[in-house]
Amino acid sequence: MSAFTYFKEHVEKSANILSLDSKTITALTTPNHVRRATLTIALEAGGTETFDAYRVQFNNARGPYKGGIRFHPDADEDEVSALAAMMAIKCAVVGIPLGGAKGGVAVDPKKLSKKDLHNLSREYVRAFSDYLGPDQDIPAPDVYTTPEIMGVMLDEYETIVGRSAPGMITGKPLSVGGSLGRDTATADGAVAVLKALLNDAGLDPKSLRASVQGAGNAGGVAATLLEKLGTKVVALSDSKGTLISDDGIDVTKALALKEEKGSVADAGALIFENGRIGAVDDVLYEHAEILVPAALEEQLTSENQDRIRAGIVLEIANGPTTPEADTALSARGVKVIPDVLANAGGVTVSYFEWIQNRTGERWEREVVKDKLESVMARAYRDVADVSKERGITLREASYVLALSRITDAMKSRGIL
Ligand code: NAD
Repeated sequence: MSAFTYFKEHVEKSANILSLDSKTITALTTPNHVRRATLTIALEAGGTETFDAYRVQFNNARGPYKGGIRFHPDADEDEVSALAAMMAIKCAVVGIPLGGAKGGVAVDPKKLSKKDLHNLSREYVRAFSDYLGPDQDIPAPDVYTTPEIMGVMLDEYETIVGRSAPGMITGKPLSVGGSLGRDTATADGAVAVLKALLNDAGLDPKSLRASVQGAGNAGGVAATLLEKLGTKVVALSDSKGTLISDDGIDVTKALALKEEKGSVADAGALIFENGRIGAVDDVLYEHAEILVPAALEEQLTSENQDRIRAGIVLEIANGPTTPEADTALSARGVKVIPDVLANAGGVTVSYFEWIQNRTGERWEREVVKDKLESVMARAYRDVADVSKERGITLREASYVLALSRITDAMKSRGIL
């Protein structure tokens, strides 16, 4: 099923709970603008190449459009639209005054030189510059786009408009107005939500075990933070395999060795006496109270959900649970902390970056962390209260809350 179909299913479910009419549902599931461009660049190796590019501006009722740009061969209008829609939901769930957008270029960045990638980034900004800006639409990094690319895009934009405009893009290098704390924001935010949920349930993190799928930026930092909380990380995986230890993995060591050898699965064999190496998917089925999918979409499905032993699923990846699996998991009492809440720490710190760019302030890492923790804890409280009041799942409650906030803004503007 397509990513956008999943999004529509979630919206329709929650729209029914809110008794929204069909005109409102259509407004909430239709992007405001789908911008398309064909980007042609001269390649460093000679010749030219052409790429399809998109900027989907989904909803800006609550504030300027906000969302990353991905460089990926599979980037297409459907995927970019679904991700744009989810950005609108995320910003509304955590209550930051931004809307939702997403961009994409259908390109395999591994096949381009650094110079080609810079040219492509500049070409993207040239194609969409009329629609971007600190008060209009603010991109950020996503799959295969980096702080370095954000710096280049900022430079191109400022050249076009002829003035400094650091707030037009976030996730920038610190040297051009990036924020401290952006590098760990997604995992920091997810763990803040988890802490709030455990506190609510009267559970001590020290008495729990966690299994983390993905040892990249989000999963690696999340595993480190869980270990710091005293939770035993019993499984950690990447695209090569799963490192498992019932005694708990030394996450710092595992990540250091991944850096050196290329995979936690290689690393485990060498350093963990009680460790063993399992298959890529074993991470999902380990004996742990908390499962953290932090790698790919569609990992928990109707085929494998009955093998999931965790009672709590913290969705750091976007869309790791299919709607069928979601229904089945909640029917057997598994608490799924949905992606739109769990991974909203990244966009929240992007919002902090944007504020710093507009006010000229520089916040210390601890200040960013404290502010993030309070936004995420409040968002969890809001979602948990709606879930309890209405007897619905945390995902349904997140969408109910977000859709109410977006429709309120649309009504206040007289467009609903
Ligand atoms: P990343 O590229 O840094 O890391 C991805 C990790 O997943 C790598 O360790 C890779 O080896 C692993 N992986 C790939 N295939 C796997 C498989 N089949 N099984 C297990 N592991 C596998 O990416 P990231 O930034 O950590 O993002 C991970 C997920 O979190 C994505 O879904 C992303 O959309 C989502 N997310 C990330 C952020 C962020 O700020 N980094 C924000 C929101 C959402």
